Amino acid sequence: MTRPSTAAAPAPSPLPAFEHSYAGLPGHFYADIAPTAVAEPALLRLNRALAADLQLDAHWLASADGVAMLAGNRLPATARPIAMAYAGHQFGNFVPSLGDGRAILLGEVIDRHGHRRDVQLKGAGRTPFSRSGDGRAALGPVLREYILGEAMHGLGIPTTRALGMVATGEPVFRERPEPGAILARVAASHMRVGTFEYFARRGDTDAVRTLADYLIQRHYPTLADDAEPYAALLAAVAARQGELIARWLLVGFIHGVMNTDNMALSGETIDYGPCAFMDAYDPNQVYSSIDRFGRYAYGQQPSIGLWNLTQLANCLLPLLDDDMDAAKTKARTALDAYGQAFEPAYYGGLRAKIGLTDDPGTDTGADDELVTDLLGRMAQHGADFTNTFRLLSDASPDDPGTLEPVRSLFAEPAAFDDWASRWQARLTPHNELDAERQARMRALNPAYIPRNHRVQAVIDAATQGGDLTPLEQLLAVVSRPYEDHAEHAEYRNPPAAHEVVHQTFCGT
Ligand code: AMP
Ligand code: MG
Repeated sequence: MTRPSTAAAPAPSPLPAFEHSYAGLPGHFYADIAPTAVAEPALLRLNRALAADLQLDAHWLASADGVAMLAGNRLPATARPIAMAYAGHQFGNFVPSLGDGRAILLGEVIDRHGHRRDVQLKGAGRTPFSRSGDGRAALGPVLREYILGEAMHGLGIPTTRALGMVATGEPVFRERPEPGAILARVAASHMRVGTFEYFARRGDTDAVRTLADYLIQRHYPTLADDAEPYAALLAAVAARQGELIARWLLVGFIHGVMNTDNMALSGETIDYGPCAFMDAYDPNQVYSSIDRFGRYAYGQQPSIGLWNLTQLANCLLPLLDDDMDAAKTKARTALDAYGQAFEPAYYGGLRAKIGLTDDPGTDTGADDELVTDLLGRMAQHGADFTNTFRLLSDASPDDPGTLEPVRSLFAEPAAFDDWASRWQARLTPHNELDAERQARMRALNPAYIPRNHRVQAVIDAATQGGDLTPLEQLLAVVSRPYEDHAEHAEYRNPPAAHEVVHQTFCGT
């Protein structure tokens, strides 16, 4: 009897199966450039869950060859390193040539859901776009990007993520020498509003069209057959941004540097620089040390989003219509998609955060007023944003004892009491079980955000003593932010007076 063949199937290659669709675009879309090797690469952390998602071999990534790739010291034959060209409006001023000055794209992988994802090394050395920069990244900002990306993902908000980070064994010189690191960043893609601006400002309409076609194919494939694909594209990008920015607001996130080169056309959060989650609710809150006029303050983000998209619309005008007036009309109509996405996502999200449902016959205008009233009182009385909504999720409006933890967050608790009676009056006639509403609210109102003082403590421990334990602890809670972690309850606390972080730095 013959037995089934025992000849082993060839072992699958552990090398990433990189594809290179972006590098298939015309040569002036990017520069071919290899990373610059570093002295002493050491793996600081590998995101094994993400590796699995990307169908990458975590065992190989953690091996000497994998770490050599993550450090840019030795790339597998499947990689084709490029730096992407882009321009951008920085704080409102146009800079015609920015580009990846310290980031090098290795290629794209197809994740287990069939989605194409970029793998890029940030801090991998100088490129033709480096200008006066050193092409490197310091460990502190790399840690911040790693943590905030994982937190954003845990919150369910579209974001780039870190696949891993390595120490370079080399110092980088900022205000003082700091340990260098490289972040392996995974993104749906790295095309930005500024990518269109790069070509549009050069009058290169062919390139604008090529980029738009590529973008449609990669992220908005259903638009390919639209009668007006480019207007539809503008509307679709605008809608994703409207929803994204609404979701930032709903968790108290401040991006900090919403330049057009930091707005991804995929709709993901990208470029975690001087960003922060706020503690006490304040619509004027700014943390970024470089945002001196509050252009990117928390409450400015919706209008800045539209400003950025208007720059995108300007780039696309030549594709919209040969007649400039007609093109502008189409652009304006397409941009309406921004508000049409933002308004329901934001106000609907706020209503849901206080447990309201839009049942038929609901006066959503009155509900919006109710939640806006709460926000006003929170701002006036310095209430912690995250804890107010989370503790409200545990409360029953007619049980004063359960309201006590929320009211104590307000400098003048009576300001909350007035609001709580309004909330009770709104909820009571609906006769819903408290437990049901509470479960719904807890799934929307995180217990854990990466609070600035915690992020700072992680950075201090890692950079000063090489201790990564605080990083692991913080990641454990922020990656599952809607769950109670009794053993880590202290991560819910706002900073003590001496722990408050007043400014964050982009560290570039
Ligand atoms: P960012 O503020 O991180 O969005 O960066 C703005 C621009 O500056 C981008 O073109 C970056 O590639 C570039 N850049 C930032 N830091 C460096 C650096 N250390 N070396 C070279 N280019 C950099
Ligand atoms: Mg950037």
